[in-house]
Amino acid sequence: MARYTDASCRLCRREGEKLFLKGDRCYSDKCSVVKRPSAPGQHGSQRKKASEHGLQMREKQKAKRFYGILEKQFERYYEIAFNQKGVTGENLLKLLESRLDNVVYRMGIGASRAEARQIVNHGHIMVNGKVVNIPSYRTKPGDAIEVKDSSKGLTYFKNLIEAGNTRNLPSWLSFDMASLKGAVLAECPREEVDLNVQEQLIIEFYSKS
Ligand code: SF4
Repeated sequence: MARYTDASCRLCRREGEKLFLKGDRCYSDKCSVVKRPSAPGQHGSQRKKASEHGLQMREKQKAKRFYGILEKQFERYYEIAFNQKGVTGENLLKLLESRLDNVVYRMGIGASRAEARQIVNHGHIMVNGKVVNIPSYRTKPGDAIEVKDSSKGLTYFKNLIEAGNTRNLPSWLSFDMASLKGAVLAECPREEVDLNVQEQLIIEFYSKS
C-alpha cells in the first residue's frame, strides 16, 4: 500500500503545528516545529494569506496526515460520514478515531500512529479474540483489544509492560498495560479528539468538489 515517503517533520512544518508523527521525538526539544517553525522549502518563511478554499484544503491535509491516511481512503471516510445520521464533521472524526491503528496508539501501544499501524500489520493485535492485521479495521464500543499472547514475550512488549502506561488514556478506552488488554468503551466524543482541527472546513472542502 502506498504511504507518505516524505520526512514526517516536513508535514508538521507544512501545517505549522505538531502532528505527533514521530513518537518520543515529538515531545522533545528536537521537534522540528520547535526548532524551525517556518514551512519547508525556499519560501517557507513567507506565508501568504490563504484563500477560503486554501484553508479548507489545509484542514483536510492536516487530518489526513495526522491519521496517516491517503487521499482516496480519506475521501471514502467523508462519504461514509456524510451518509451517516448526525453531524458529518463529527461522524468523520469518530470514524478516524475508531481505526484499529489509532485505538492501539491511543492505548499506548506504539509511540506513534505509524508504529501502531506496523504493530497491527504484523499481526500482534487481537480484536475479540481474533488476530486482526488491518490497520483501518473499524472498532466499535464493546470490542476487546489485546496483544496476542505469543507476542507478549517479544522485547518490545516486555519493555512496554516494564515502562507502564505513560500516555493519557482517553475516557472512551480502557487499557491495562500489565496484561496488554483493553477495550473500546464508547465512541470517541468530539472533545477527546486530540487533533486541533476545524472539521467543518473539511466538510466544506468535499461538498464543493
Ligand atoms: Fe512533527 Fe514530531 Fe517531527 Fe515535531 S518531531 S515536527 S511533532 S513529527
